[in-house]
Amino acid sequence: MASNSHILFFPFMAQGHTIPLLDLAKLLSHRGFKVTILTTPSNTSTISSYISQLSNIHLKVIAFPQVQGLPVGYENMSQLSHDQLLPFFTATKQLQQQFEKTLEEMSRVQDLPVCVISDTFLGWTNTSCRVFRIPRLVFHGMGVLPMAVKKSLVIHQTYKEVGTDTEPLVVKGVQFGFTLTRADLPNSIRERESSASQFFLDSEIYDIGSWGVIANSFVELEKDHVASLESLYGNNTRVWCVGPLLLYDQIEGARNGPNGPNPSTKWAEWLNQQVGGQSVIYVSFGSQSNLSETQLDELAYGLELSGHNYIWIVRSKTWNPPCDGRGLIVREWVDQRWILAHEAIGGFLSHCGWNSVLESLSEGVPILAWPMFAEQHLNAKYLVEELKMGLQVPNLNRAMKIVSREAICEGVKELMGGEKGFKARENVVELGRMAKRSVQVGGSSYNNLNELVNQISHISS
Ligand code: UDP
Repeated sequence: MASNSHILFFPFMAQGHTIPLLDLAKLLSHRGFKVTILTTPSNTSTISSYISQLSNIHLKVIAFPQVQGLPVGYENMSQLSHDQLLPFFTATKQLQQQFEKTLEEMSRVQDLPVCVISDTFLGWTNTSCRVFRIPRLVFHGMGVLPMAVKKSLVIHQTYKEVGTDTEPLVVKGVQFGFTLTRADLPNSIRERESSASQFFLDSEIYDIGSWGVIANSFVELEKDHVASLESLYGNNTRVWCVGPLLLYDQIEGARNGPNGPNPSTKWAEWLNQQVGGQSVIYVSFGSQSNLSETQLDELAYGLELSGHNYIWIVRSKTWNPPCDGRGLIVREWVDQRWILAHEAIGGFLSHCGWNSVLESLSEGVPILAWPMFAEQHLNAKYLVEELKMGLQVPNLNRAMKIVSREAICEGVKELMGGEKGFKARENVVELGRMAKRSVQVGGSSYNNLNELVNQISHISS
């Protein structure tokens, strides 16, 4: 299986996109490939800390273009305000010239990669790869269902006519077991006239003609969606489900897992002191979501009213809680996997970013869904209505009107102690078992990864 072939990885500059792609890079390096990761200056330290012990992973740094509307040094989506997103996306397109120069240099020293694995948001890499006759694999940092829904709406041009927030939506060629409406779609498709939307619509088109697609999901979870997505790409394009990537650490030593040592932090100490298994709710909205201060106040009251202890990751640097309480508020980057694996954790109030969904599922923790943007509404509906591994925060609305403390309290109580919460916990534990089986020897993701490795090795021979 070992090969000395060279693979070039190009992650998109957002935490939720970069982390799983680095996990894949580690796995492929572990299988004997030489790996180069392409990135921009201010992302290098995060990436270096992830890949530090691996000698056959190299970093190649290219300059991030300076554009209007973006302060110097802003190179990661996680640091941006809503107004800065469009200049940021536009800037990433300007990396194309340097990307091609990098390939030219590699070619000159006869070290051209046998394939490029790049994020779906860097769709233009597909065009460059064609010039150099290198196959490109698309990496999506999301589940297969949202990929298929978006692809279908764009390919069939039906995104131009998606109806109201209440009427059921038909998505050609994609099946799912719940009613989808415009309100569940990613903003890129809802706000179809905006320039930011154009960026995402272009990415969908660029992707077509890629050699294949790599998904951080597993077949048992999304079998029908995989078949739909493959037929939407056409030309026998393969969708390789090789996830959950985070779980490989148990068999491949790729990443520090939840069984790792206690982080020496106040929050780990606090969690270790909690008595009673599954008594604490973990609250986090990922690396990008920002709630208004009024909403944060309401959430603080809601958590208090629920009577459950909580550990809550707050991104705002200015907001202070309106009440003293039974929870712990943390303002630093935490080891989410470690927290979710802790025996004291009984539920996760989450924005439903795909990595958070996979991490929760893998640890058998049911979710109280509070989606905010991107494909999070779709994820939330899927996990609540089809997978039944969570509940929805009551009275959520797409206009992001304030969700009351009473609604939050009701949701937390039901998840942590109600009958529906109990069923969701049973279901998520079973899904977690399936996920773990899929990455073990002989499991579906493990086999897919082997096949992918063989195919890449084939290109080079
Ligand atoms: N994460 C973390 N610590 C934090 C916040 C987030 O480890 O304090 C990780 C989390 O475990 C997940 C990723 O960051 O792997 C967030 O990705 P997700 O897709 O859930 O949401 P996004 O941030 O992309 O909206």
